[in-house]
Amino acid sequence: MAIKESAASAANGASRHAVDAIIIGAGFSGLYQLHKLRDDLGLNAVVLEKADGVGGTWYWNRYPGARCDSESYYYCYSFNKEIEQEWSWSERYPEHPEIRKYLNFVADKLDLKRDIRLNTEVTSAAFDDATNTWTVRTKDNQTFSAPFLITAVGCLSTANVPKMKGLESFEGQWYHTGLWPHDGVDFKGKRVGQIGTGSTGIQAAPVIAEQAGHLTVFQRTANYSIPARNGPVTAEDVKHTRENYDDIWKLARAGTNGHPFTISTQSALAVSDTERQGIYEKAWERGGLRFRASFSDVLQNADANLTASDFLRSKIKEVVKDPAIAEMLTPYDHGFATKRPPIDSGYFETFNRDNVLLVDIKAEPIVEVTPKGIRTTKQDYELDIIVFATGFDALTGPLVNLNISGSQGYKLKDAWSAGPQTYLGLQSPKFPNLFTITGPGSPSVLCNMPIAIEQHVDWITDCIRDMRAKGLKRIEAEPEPTEKWVAHVNEAADATLLPMASSSWYLGANVPGKPRVFMPYAGGFARYTAICNDVAQNGYRGFALS
Ligand code: NAP
Repeated sequence: MAIKESAASAANGASRHAVDAIIIGAGFSGLYQLHKLRDDLGLNAVVLEKADGVGGTWYWNRYPGARCDSESYYYCYSFNKEIEQEWSWSERYPEHPEIRKYLNFVADKLDLKRDIRLNTEVTSAAFDDATNTWTVRTKDNQTFSAPFLITAVGCLSTANVPKMKGLESFEGQWYHTGLWPHDGVDFKGKRVGQIGTGSTGIQAAPVIAEQAGHLTVFQRTANYSIPARNGPVTAEDVKHTRENYDDIWKLARAGTNGHPFTISTQSALAVSDTERQGIYEKAWERGGLRFRASFSDVLQNADANLTASDFLRSKIKEVVKDPAIAEMLTPYDHGFATKRPPIDSGYFETFNRDNVLLVDIKAEPIVEVTPKGIRTTKQDYELDIIVFATGFDALTGPLVNLNISGSQGYKLKDAWSAGPQTYLGLQSPKFPNLFTITGPGSPSVLCNMPIAIEQHVDWITDCIRDMRAKGLKRIEAEPEPTEKWVAHVNEAADATLLPMASSSWYLGANVPGKPRVFMPYAGGFARYTAICNDVAQNGYRGFALS
């Protein structure tokens, strides 16, 4: 890439670069977006990445037990046949180092790294109306300018560390799972406290319990979980997948969630109790996120949902030996899958271990962190290490934190103060030429992420190609279609049981003070794709182009 560098500014330590497109983030989205813009459109594109390696979410999330909940054969790119045929996964669910290895393999194969600036943290981005140009500044005093700015910052990349009184006084070590030390943490013989029992905490607890002297899990909300049933991928599996990739991707794109399996068309209420039990048992044995697909209406009908929730509650009681602990671990405040359902490897079994204690912090809330550990309203728990598995400022956090100002200096944080305002999750009014890959208002986190990412990157690339072909310099979401889209995102969520889980991060409820708005698009991936295609085919309806 020929980045133009201004000699004058280079002389005073700062450096300026003019390119055609700036991409922020070198995870799944950023890598593919760079490939498309550079190799398909021939643009000068640069990726700015805060980390010192590629991987995005998987660069940072290295906590014990971190692996993907989507199955490996479809948690990958679908755009390149050679990559598909050359790469093979070792486990049903890929562990974090293997995903980084995969993304490095892709980056090397497509020769992407020469256009990725690592250790380059973006501190602000501002749009200039006179020149239709974005200017991005970085922590190390560099300036990049380009007509197009594309955020590829992920949905779950801003760690949420609760503001706990006294944390700074803690004499042990504390870590957030999403910012895990690269050298790992030595738990041997240590008294560990884990706060949080979402997907992350549920993956981490069994591994920490095996390594630590003692583990105390501080649970605020009990959660459902399905066994992952992880295991090695055989040579036969690899052969079968490679031979069938076209069908796998077709199925994934045709569905609601970008997974290559179909949701049953049968209602949970249309079968006998015995038949339903048999179907759930089979899904439980098979394991994984596919449990949700057992019936058509698990996420649509409260009575149907109750059958799944009751089944999973009974499993907790079967697995956990102490009935009082089993009861504490049983969720009653929300239906199964109304919050993102975790999958696990021995989570409930962990509470049968002698070195594990469960503390219900709804019954005895945390008062403060002391130098020696955690104090609840009932007692002090002495700890050497605290692990915050407390999630993320999801979807909006990574974008708002970029300090973006659009047309006439309008700030994204103000534009979204009452919740994200996007058209199709791709753009926001007053932020011309800014595209947000898997932004709020798109299927994103309700989807198998690589599939959602590829659809967005392809759409954005086609849009930029069309604009350049027609000599257009500016594209901006219009306010009215945006309002309608936001209303439609709400409608789509309201047609499901998803908004019922009042503590869900889908609603922003996990971050104190964040507006309660259902953020991802729950209308289904295939439907969403059709809408985006229709908008593009109709002259980018709802966008102002000039
Ligand atoms: P999460 O689902 O938001 O769970 C955070 C946990 O921390 C919850 O149990 C929450 O309790 C608790 N918590 C938050 N603030 C707290 C506070 N101040 N005091 C006490 N407890 C607090 O976060 P996550 O587990 O990191 O998962 C986030 C998402 O990342 C997942 O839903 C999933 O989409 C993704 N993820 C994916 C994978 C994968 O595919 N491999 C793995 C992990 C995560 P409440 O429920 O009461 O708020």
